[in-house]
Amino acid sequence: MKLRLRARCLINFAALVTIFGGSLIGPDAYAQPPGDWIDAHFHLVADKDDLESFDEAARMALESMDAAGIRTIAIMSPPRPKENFDIESIAGVVKKYGPRIVMLGGGGTLNPMLQEAARSSVVSEEVRRRFAETAQRIIASGAKGFGEIAAHHVSLTPSHGYESVPADHPLLLLLADIAAQHDVPIDLHFDPVSEDVEKPATLSSPKNPPVLKENIKGLERLLAHNRKTRIVWAHAGVDPVGFFTPKLAREMLGRHPNLWFSVRPTGPTPGAMVPPKGPINEAWIAVLRDFPDRFVIGSDNFVVPARYTGPDAPRIFAQRAEVQRRGILRLLSHLPPDLARRIGYENAERLYRLNR
Ligand SMILES: [Zn+2]
Repeated sequence: MKLRLRARCLINFAALVTIFGGSLIGPDAYAQPPGDWIDAHFHLVADKDDLESFDEAARMALESMDAAGIRTIAIMSPPRPKENFDIESIAGVVKKYGPRIVMLGGGGTLNPMLQEAARSSVVSEEVRRRFAETAQRIIASGAKGFGEIAAHHVSLTPSHGYESVPADHPLLLLLADIAAQHDVPIDLHFDPVSEDVEKPATLSSPKNPPVLKENIKGLERLLAHNRKTRIVWAHAGVDPVGFFTPKLAREMLGRHPNLWFSVRPTGPTPGAMVPPKGPINEAWIAVLRDFPDRFVIGSDNFVVPARYTGPDAPRIFAQRAEVQRRGILRLLSHLPPDLARRIGYENAERLYRLNR
């Protein structure tokens, strides 16, 4: 086993926000107004079943959507290690504020079942049955797909979990088949690791293991398992480990016609699609141009209402929203108008079937 220490100087998101605030990208970046757009990966986080707080979060989100020209957001629970809120807490705001807010389901129910199942070597029939029933209920409740589901999720702060499950775990293959049956996508958090590697020094959270294991082959098996399943690989553009490169994205898109990416363009890590300072990464732009139908925008922004009492990670992440939104507007302005339209909203409308 070859181990390589990646000791690059990365700064975590929270530190970036603290150090630089929201003034990283000047208005000179906007060559042309991008028009409105769809944010396909968005988190409202409140305490489970505190419906009033979810409503407050939705109103806060709508205000910022109006300011930033966002037509629709797809909200979902982050991929939780233990059971947490899911569609039952957010269906109300979707009903009330739809079609501007749509939901994906499973981050607070299916994902904990998956992480739990990954700790034992066999998946019992009972677990499979419960998992499938939950998945069916999510779609019956009006979710546009499954998410956020994690196959590999590194921890960015001590209150942010580490999760690792083979992407071809039997429950993910089962979920792929259920998604295909309903013609809905799976939003997948997958921090890629191309070869076994020692944990980068920058991933200092004690929840991360000392060695990160190769995981791409499992994802390829998941994608090949059912070609009718649309997998949306989240967070293209920013890479906390060092392997989520334009080259990898290009290769995977070439091999897997059922793969899409949602773009979170701005972050402090080297090679970001839209760096906080300096020029846009043209290697990423070339992939967007070559696969114009396979990308959507997914800011990964968090909105957290005043009364939330859980761990502090969502509040830390909520601080980066403004920087990320500016990065998205800068990206859309940088693209040729037809490509900006596709990535800005047309692809998302088709992928999530937002018009029906
Ligand atoms: Zn994620």
